[in-house]
Amino acid sequence: MSETKILLEESEIPSQWYNVVADMPNPPVPPLGPDGKPIGPEALTAIFPDALIEQEVSTERWIDIPEAVREIYTLWRPSPLYRAHRLEKALGTPARIYYKYEGVSPAGSHKPNTAVAQAYYNQQAGIRRLTTETGAGQWGSSLALAGQMFGIEVRVYMVRVSYEQKPFRRSMMHSWGAEVLASPTEQTESGRKILAQHPDSPGSLGIAISEAVEEAASRDDTNYALGSVLNHVLIHQSVIGLEAKKQFEKVGDYPDMIFAPCGGGSNFGGVAFPFFADKAAGKEIRLVAVEPSSCPTLTRGHYAYDFGDSMGLTPLLKMYTLGHDFMPPSIHAGGLRYHGDNTLVSQLYNEGLIEAQAVPQLATFEAGVQFARSEGIIPAPESNHAISACIDEALKCKQSGEARTLFFNLSGHGHFDMASYDKFFSKELEDYEYPAEAIEEALKHLPKVAQG
Ligand SMILES: *Cc1c(COP(=O)(O)O)cnc(C)c1O
Repeated sequence: MSETKILLEESEIPSQWYNVVADMPNPPVPPLGPDGKPIGPEALTAIFPDALIEQEVSTERWIDIPEAVREIYTLWRPSPLYRAHRLEKALGTPARIYYKYEGVSPAGSHKPNTAVAQAYYNQQAGIRRLTTETGAGQWGSSLALAGQMFGIEVRVYMVRVSYEQKPFRRSMMHSWGAEVLASPTEQTESGRKILAQHPDSPGSLGIAISEAVEEAASRDDTNYALGSVLNHVLIHQSVIGLEAKKQFEKVGDYPDMIFAPCGGGSNFGGVAFPFFADKAAGKEIRLVAVEPSSCPTLTRGHYAYDFGDSMGLTPLLKMYTLGHDFMPPSIHAGGLRYHGDNTLVSQLYNEGLIEAQAVPQLATFEAGVQFARSEGIIPAPESNHAISACIDEALKCKQSGEARTLFFNLSGHGHFDMASYDKFFSKELEDYEYPAEAIEEALKHLPKVAQG
């Protein structure tokens, strides 16, 4: 039997990140300001350091990874690529299934790959504090960790429903020295506005982003950090796919299809885009973003200019969106409850160069439990989306007899999500209908400027 864990040396951690813009057939659609005109990088200097703004608009294929960042990466990178021998056997499929395991990071997901880079560039720019939002708590804990490593204070606006459901994620952030507030708060204009209308608001990522951006924009010593959606985040996450390419090379295999859960698009872009370079050069490979059917941004959203946050404080981004004030159902994959998607992911999807699938909640937990019972690792509920789509494909291979190579990103472990698994086991977990009316209503509130 061939190897189970395909491992690299620390010296094989990439020394450069990859930027997909260099291989896209068309230039990226620019962000717009409130007046509907394309904004320049200077519009972002109130909340981001110059180095990250440069990466945000960069057209360079390769971007050097600073040595200080690479050094911290060595704490958990290179992450292992696994061949899922036991899952293949359990499914009785001729497909070869591989997964890259990002749960080996201290915070338990792929998110520290960018958190560390963002904290580094902010420290270099003399910033002392960072604000951010967190949904399920994975991003907040990743930035807390990274802030600690570079001596930066971190304040996290945590979506209220998660703040209450995930006390241990909060404890992790406290352990790494961050301050955590339940959003919406009374501390920002945005929070106060929401609370005036909805005193019991469970919060949302969009609202928490508004609060964090508002605070960062109002203080000189404070910047804002986002865990997904923006191009620089996808650039940092490319370490996942770059390592995976080396690992596939080592075993002489290459994926026919790649699956990744898709919230804001960062782990999808991170794992899939380095392979897009080969696709752009003519290689056949299918890249599939997998989202919840209760928050079906790519599969049911509109491709339009919209705000990144609920209150409309961010520039307008051309992306697949469900409307910036869409309130997704409180599903257990908190990291996938975002109304929009990265603009590059959106553009490539619109051009038919990548694919998307939506999966209902129960099917994702079924897949996650099947995975845990054969491979051992208990996946994050977000990761279960990719596993579900991959298992479906492996079963198609069983029917057709095709020995395809399937690869998914196991974006994190589920050790802080066991309450969700308990609900699944006690049959309290539901599938939410596709919230057609709520989406239709939210889409009516798309900003009126410059659509088209
Ligand atoms: C945040 C998160 C996701 C989804 O986020 P992307 O922005 O789409 O990468 C997926 N899996 C895990 C474990 C997460 O923490």
